[in-house]
Amino acid sequence: MASFHLCHCKAGLQSQNLAPLTSNPTNHTALISNLLPHKPNSIKFNKLELKSTPTRRAHHIFNTLPKSPENSSSTVHEPPLKIGIVGFGNFGQFIAKALRRQGHTVLATSRSDYSEYCQQHGIEFFQDINGFCTEQPDVIVVCSSILSTESVLRGIPLQKLKSDTIFADVLSVKQFPRNLFLEVLPPEFGIVCTHPMFGPESGKNSWAGLPFVYDKVRIAENSIQDRKCAQFLSIFEEEGCRMVEMSCEEHDRHAAGSQFITHTIGRILSHLDLESTPINTKGYETLLQLTENTVSDSFDLYYGLFMYNVNATEQIENLDRAFETVKQKLFGRLHDILRKQIVERVPMQGVVPSKATREVGHTPYFLPNSERMTDLASFAMPPPPQPQQSKDEAVSTPKEARVAASRVA
Ligand code: NAP
Repeated sequence: MASFHLCHCKAGLQSQNLAPLTSNPTNHTALISNLLPHKPNSIKFNKLELKSTPTRRAHHIFNTLPKSPENSSSTVHEPPLKIGIVGFGNFGQFIAKALRRQGHTVLATSRSDYSEYCQQHGIEFFQDINGFCTEQPDVIVVCSSILSTESVLRGIPLQKLKSDTIFADVLSVKQFPRNLFLEVLPPEFGIVCTHPMFGPESGKNSWAGLPFVYDKVRIAENSIQDRKCAQFLSIFEEEGCRMVEMSCEEHDRHAAGSQFITHTIGRILSHLDLESTPINTKGYETLLQLTENTVSDSFDLYYGLFMYNVNATEQIENLDRAFETVKQKLFGRLHDILRKQIVERVPMQGVVPSKATREVGHTPYFLPNSERMTDLASFAMPPPPQPQQSKDEAVSTPKEARVAASRVA
């Protein structure tokens, strides 16, 4: 998704990086080791990760299977998976490309009709969910919007599916689909909650090094379901993703503080109608890119990040407080100057009081009259000279006054 995705995009992980990665297992291992976080306990890598041969093919090799006489070399070739995508919008289509690239059979179903697109991309499309389920996919990947997922899931005729079907999701929030799946799906169905931390924009060139979060919520150990789940996860590993095993709770905590904040800033900036200028700084370019990436995602997605992550409200409040703090720092400085002049009657250094001022005995200060309080700059300006005063009698020039104000501060 755009939020996180921006920085990965910016990291310059372009498609050319994929070539050495996929052709050389040593490089692959080295790259993944380099990407390991400082706290190894917080992120565990799938056992498969450093062992599998990083070449793309339909028949995957697994080193993690229990050894048996037939499997004494500890490697087994698995037939391609039959993967059904539910919700074939922006992200469903994006992910389907990788599944197809790796030789898996892909089926799709969605509210809208994508039969033409599917025909062109070697995907079987089912307008009717019953027909889709009758095909009995090994893995069903729920790619619907966060907001519609509950009604979509409840609309699936589960009795038509195999009893060891694995349900995966790609929702950008994780506790909600985990709890929903546990509530709705029969106990023998497998559940793996995932979040590819990238989207059609940030992952358009390559997925190399991009984080893929997963939580094997309910997978029967040492079973075919276990193997199929490993095979499904290996698809992302094969694409070069950084596999991050993490609980759904932990994901939502991290995502609210990073992804949701990023989306929120992007959405705020989009209301400023920022434009490119001939003198863009690197920082400004980053903001423009962030805005573009954020608004290319649907508002439903953003709203889902807010509504379906229990940590999001706190982050909105933090953001609000942080903005207030920054404003106070700016305005507070001016207030200090004014207070010194108004309350403590501290004369402005370097400003020669006018004759009139000397006569009345007033200390000159910069508080503009109410009509002139239009912007911050007006606070730093001395009152303009009166028409009857000669130039010499004026309190000071605006420039002198500003210099004086900064000395007071
Ligand atoms: P989205 O707006 O979140 O979801 C669009 C999908 O939801 C489409 O397949 C759409 O079906 C379906 N949908 C929406 N309302 C529906 C309803 N009332 N009933 C049935 N289906 C409905 O956009 P998205 O970018 O494609 O995201 C899909 C999922 O991927 C989301 O859960 C999102 O959190 C996750 N994700 C997205 C990104 C990203 O960068 N975009 C990254 C990681 C994860 P139709 O197209 O048939 O109308």
